[in-house]
Amino acid sequence: MSSTSTNTISNNVPEINDQIRHNWNIAEVQALFDLPFNDLMFQAQTVHRQHFNPNEVQVSTLLSIKTGACPEDCKYCSQSARNKTDLETEKLLEVDNVLATAKAAQEQGSTRFCMGAAWRNPKARDMPYVIEMIKGVKALGLETCMTLGMLSADQANELQSAGLDYYNHNLDTSPEHYNQIITTRTYQDRLDTIGNVRSSGMKVCSGGIVGLGEESKDRASLLAQLANLSPQPESVPINMLVKIEGTPLSDVEDLESFDFIRCIAVARLMMPNSHVRLSAGRSAMNEQMQAMCFLAGANSIFYGCKLLTAENPETNQDIALFEKLGINTETIDTPDEQQESNNIRTALINEENKALFYDANV
Ligand code: SF4
Repeated sequence: MSSTSTNTISNNVPEINDQIRHNWNIAEVQALFDLPFNDLMFQAQTVHRQHFNPNEVQVSTLLSIKTGACPEDCKYCSQSARNKTDLETEKLLEVDNVLATAKAAQEQGSTRFCMGAAWRNPKARDMPYVIEMIKGVKALGLETCMTLGMLSADQANELQSAGLDYYNHNLDTSPEHYNQIITTRTYQDRLDTIGNVRSSGMKVCSGGIVGLGEESKDRASLLAQLANLSPQPESVPINMLVKIEGTPLSDVEDLESFDFIRCIAVARLMMPNSHVRLSAGRSAMNEQMQAMCFLAGANSIFYGCKLLTAENPETNQDIALFEKLGINTETIDTPDEQQESNNIRTALINEENKALFYDANV
């Protein structure tokens, strides 16, 4: 037997400090990605347990309320009118149709209903319909989320007043890789929309897609952009590219599974209070990989067999996996319950001087 002890504690586990940082540079984030896998997973799970119930996952359902014929040129997307996919386009759905789907999602255990439209931005003529949808879904007792493209400050305020809880607008990739993926809107356009959402009082859902042919430093740069938003997004979807025939990225090289899991773990470390969502690409992941993502700190998924237009595991497969892992779905707290759990969490952290966050500087 080798004299090297299998019980040796790694020296690579950095110290932890208790600040949420908004000044990450790419080299620091890259240092997290470069940690030995077990050290990274241990740290991510430690931080996760300080901020969330480790056996709870928040569940959302995503419905495409207007499909295809999008004027934008996102190179991964089946809905861009510029990509020659066999997607069937669909006009804006009737409000009643959307509400019936929301009710069914609620009965399956979803707590949040996300509605997505393939638009560059919503037009004035669309707003009354989406507002009716928000009010109807809200009246069912679900949290509401929309992703409709770019928003002006006025539009963000209008959606917030209608009761929209979250707005999704992803950064997609790093600023450095961005022009390889989209040319019809700028990175700054995206940051401006996120700023408008934040100023309106809505919660921000923003993440990105990995496996777009980017380099590892691009994944670090994307996470730095997200973590440096102040406040950080409440919800951070990490998508694995779903390669779609007819899109320019249909035969891009696969991302190594461990690189995806590392992305989840680093996102958890940098954004400890955010829900990190295991999003598109889940249908290509086996149960063991999904379990590893939960261990790395993912605590949100989409239920349902379609993610806008990409495949997603069937709801009953998710339920079976949750049973195997002893995972429960998160419920929505009342405002009083939210305040109480925040107080308890703060007290626990102060009392035990637990680390909130891990500093790559050391
Ligand atoms: S990702 Fe959104 S904005 Fe880009 S082409 Fe697809 S639907 Fe349009």
